[in-house]
This record gives sequence, structure tokens and C-alpha cells, in this order.
Amino acid sequence: MSLTLSGSVASGPMSDHLEPVDFVREKVRDDRAAGRFGGRVQTRFPPEPNGFLHVGHAKSVYLNFGIAEEFDGICHLRFDDTNPVAEDVSYVEAIVEDLAWLGVTPSGPPRFTSDSFDQLYLWAEDLIRAGLAYVDDQDQATISAQRGGFGQPGVESPHRNRSVEDNLERFRGMRDGRYSDGECVLRARIDMQADNMWLRDPVLYRIRRAHHHRTGDRWIIYPTYDWAHGQVDAIEGTTHSICTLEFAEHRPLYDWCLDHVELPSDRPEQTEFARLNLTHTVLSKRVLRTLVEDGLVDGWDDARMPTVRGLRRRGYPAEALRAFCDHISVAKTNSTVEIELLESFVRTHHNRHALRRMAVLDPLRLTITNWPEGHVEWMDVVNNPEDDAEGTRAVPFTGELWIERDDFMVDPPPKYFRLTPGREVRLRNAFFVTATDVVLDGDGNVVEVLATYDPESRGGAAPDGRKVKSTLHWVSRPHAADATVHLYERLFRSAHPGSDGADPLEDLDRGSRTTRSAKVEPALAEANPGQVVQFERLGYFAADLDDPSVFHRTVGLRDEWANIQKQRTA
Ligand code: ATP
Ligand code: MG
Repeated sequence: MSLTLSGSVASGPMSDHLEPVDFVREKVRDDRAAGRFGGRVQTRFPPEPNGFLHVGHAKSVYLNFGIAEEFDGICHLRFDDTNPVAEDVSYVEAIVEDLAWLGVTPSGPPRFTSDSFDQLYLWAEDLIRAGLAYVDDQDQATISAQRGGFGQPGVESPHRNRSVEDNLERFRGMRDGRYSDGECVLRARIDMQADNMWLRDPVLYRIRRAHHHRTGDRWIIYPTYDWAHGQVDAIEGTTHSICTLEFAEHRPLYDWCLDHVELPSDRPEQTEFARLNLTHTVLSKRVLRTLVEDGLVDGWDDARMPTVRGLRRRGYPAEALRAFCDHISVAKTNSTVEIELLESFVRTHHNRHALRRMAVLDPLRLTITNWPEGHVEWMDVVNNPEDDAEGTRAVPFTGELWIERDDFMVDPPPKYFRLTPGREVRLRNAFFVTATDVVLDGDGNVVEVLATYDPESRGGAAPDGRKVKSTLHWVSRPHAADATVHLYERLFRSAHPGSDGADPLEDLDRGSRTTRSAKVEPALAEANPGQVVQFERLGYFAADLDDPSVFHRTVGLRDEWANIQKQRTA
């Protein structure tokens, strides 16, 4: 057995300073100091290729790859492909791409559990020879019922004491197609009275006549997760097998399997951490698949999906995902993180990096009646006040503008400081204007606002120092480009969709996307696919990856996380 050590994980900027601290890293550090595994550190990220990666997977990715980076170790991408019915090569490709986008580099080529099917089979025969496994031809329901429960004894299968020869014969028969699907299984022979349910003679192999995306029709028996996972960890040379909390109960079985086969290297050790849960979010692949298959979203990469692809389309940068994962750290008990915290990492990133632009999402005509006919004034506008290096751009201003419909009211309530007849406001980076009149359609709706401007207020300040109470964004009508803008509500209305056993889909907001035909400044017509900009006063928006004339609202401008914190301390 040789280890492929091709390619090591590039060490990140965090290797020397600001290392994340958590109990898993603590353990790895201690193991290394004690010389365990010869000082080696090897982890793996083991997705099943039956769906796309989501933000929960990102937490596991940054933990596993982060540890390898920080301890000069290696981290494999291993596809846990033991269930050909649900798996597909398209998921394999998507996961490889998503990891690259997340900014991690697996050590060497992807590994596949199916590459070890031969070895796993041979080890299963070894178990049979040692009297530690048997073929059971009871059906799945009977086997489940016989497992008993907590404080309820298990019942031994009538086939538990078959001879080694009989079991070998039957197991080979399973492999060679002598039995139909479900007719029999291979079970470990451990202890039907064990306190740990997983040790009550768990199933190791099932018969499944399904085409496998890698092994084709070569196998009709497939190992279970429990039989495959630890063994493949050992075959690959994994030292620290990091998984989520629900596998803690499997750990005695993980160890049992490794204790009863001839290992090529040190015995790996499983450590469990709490999975990521986010409010207003479902991270179950089964539910996400239902959303896709039932057409409730556009696909796995819909901007409302918590998938890596969805978040990417939405304008969530990988750097923010990583900073978020490092911040929440890993714990030993399950908890739920507020979605507003993730959003605040995204907002902080874009506040620093996003260019500022003007876009009008619900356009209303504003016409300046004292503007020189046909005149265009090019305003010099700062691209990003947080970053001088981004410089300025020229934005055309004319007497024919678009403003936001809700920035004007004929009959405003108290405390409405935006435009209304007789009032002066500032048009951002341009001039002071005063509304003088409106044009109505046949139904009495305002279709145009007429205004005058003060030529002395160029750049947005009056020479006499007079103040206005609001500043509006605008776009010049003759220069405006058209854009489609998607606004989003949370996909799930309740903070904990599907809690108390309810169907999370009942909580789905089917109106979670609203689409606007917007007018945007000319610079936005040149947005690059995936570019995130700040629409002034409105929020951050990501140009679509396929059609950059479509924008997705990434996050708003208001720091809702800070508000939550404030309420909590109050
Ligand atoms: P399923 O078991 O329904 O297929 P899964 O979410 O467990 O879904 P896997 O492909 O088995 O999907 O997961 C790959 C790795 O990502 C596993 O190590 C798993 O523990 C980890 N992982 C999955 N979901 C989360 C989560 N919400 N938070 C942290 N890690 C997760
Ligand atoms: Mg899983």
C-alpha cells in the first residue's frame, strides 16, 4: 500500500498568524506534539456525489483543508460513492468545480471509495473467515425490528451461526448474482445486546443491481457507509477523520471495523464536530433536491439556494464564506447560526470592494424644466469611497432623468423628507432640484415630475450653504441602460423551517423573488458576469454569471446583525 503524496495544500496567509482555534485543531496539535501518526496530518473531505455542495459543506471544507494547510498536512477530496442509485457523475464534476471556487486545492486527484471496492470485498471475506460476518436472508424490515431499541434487547438472526464455508459461499453468490436485490445482506457479527445500536450486527453489504458511474456493472453488491468509510480512510492514510456529530454514535463501529482488518497504515481516528445550521435555511440535500425537482426554484444554482453555486450567483464571495466559517468555529454541540451573521460577512467584504453605481429599480420620470435643451453634464463620481485606488468615473447628467418612484410623493406623510411639490432635494453627485409640478395619466397616477435645478449647486452642494434633508439617486434617461433586477425575500419564512417535525416546504415563501425592469447608469451595461456592485442607497447586487444585464440582490446596506446584537445586550 503506497500513499500518493502528489501535490500539497498551498499554505494560506493564516499559517503564521490568526490561526483559528478550536477543539479539533487543538487535538491535531496535541497529536502532532505527541508524535502520533509519525507527526503526519491527513484529512479528507468526503461528499457523496448525490447533490451539490451547500454552505454546511463549506464549513467542513474549510475545517478539513484548513487543518491540512496549517499543519503542513494533506487533504484529499474523496467521493463517498457507495450508493449508485442516487449518485451521478454530474455531481462529481460540480463538486470539483465548487471546491476550486471555494479556494481550496485537494492534494492530488480526487479519490473515490469505489476505487477500494476490491479491497473492501477482500476484507469482508476476511471477516467471514474470522467468524465476524454472516449472510442473513431476512428482509430489511425484519432485521430492523430485531435490532430492538434502547433498553430493549436485540434478537439474534436465525442465520447468525452459519458456518464460515456456508457464509463464504453465500457471500460469493451475492457478488456473482445468485440472489435478487434485497434477498440477502452481509452483516457484521458483533453483539445483538450491545448498548450501542450500531454494534447490533450492522449491515455491511447490500445487493443492488444499479449502474455505477465509475464501476459500471462490475459490482452488484455495494458496501454500506459504515463498512466503507473507516477502511477507505485507512487505505488513503487519513489520520484525522473529521465528520459531523450524528456519526459520534457510529464511532465504536468505525473502530470495530478497523480493529478487525489488516491495516496498511496507522489506524485513523474519527472526531466529530457540530454541523452548521442557519436560520431561514434548509441544508438537507433531500429537501434541496425536492426544491429543484419540483421546480420551486430555477435549479441547484438559483440565487436563493444555500448551495455554493446559489450563493455564488447571489454574489457571496468565497473569502466571506471562509471568514464566516472561521468566525463561527467548530463546537461539540449543535446550534443554529443567524443568517444575518453570514450576511454581515458578505456585506463587510463588499463594502470594502464593491464599486458604487446608480440604478433605479422602479423608474419615474423627472424632467428639469430650466435645463438647457440637449445639454449633457459629465459628473465626476467616486467609484468606491472605501478605496481611493478605484478612482472616479464620468456619469452623464441631463434634464431628463429617472428617479425612484417612492422617492416622490404628492401628498407625503409627516417625516417624509424626499421629493414632494415645492421641496428641494439633492440629486446625488449632481445638483439641487425643486419639484414644481406633476404630469398625471388618465387614472390620476403620477407619470412624470417636473422640477427646476440650481445651476450653482453642481456636485451636490449649494454655494450659500443651504441644506436639504435628502439625497436621491438618479439615472439620465437618454443614457440609461435596461437591466433586470431580482429582489429576494428569505426562501423560508420561519427561522427554523421544519422544526417540530413539520414539512419545511410548508414554510417555503413562493413569492420570495420579485423582478424589476430597472434603468441603470451606462457603466453598469459593462458589468462583468459575477461582479458585485453597490447600487447607491439600495444594497449590493451581483451581475448574473450567465447574463450580466440581470442583477441579483446580494444583501442590503443595513447591518441587521448589529441590530440583533444590540437588542440582545439591551
Ligand atoms: P446526505 O447524508 O443527506 O447525503 P450530507 O449533508 O451528509 O448529506 P455528504 O455529502 O455526506 O452530505 O457530506 C459531505 C461532508 O460534509 C461530510 O463530512 C458531512 O459531515 C459534511 N457536512 C454535511 N452537511 C454539513 C453541515 N451542515 N455542516 C457541516 N458539515 C456538513
Ligand atoms: Mg452524509
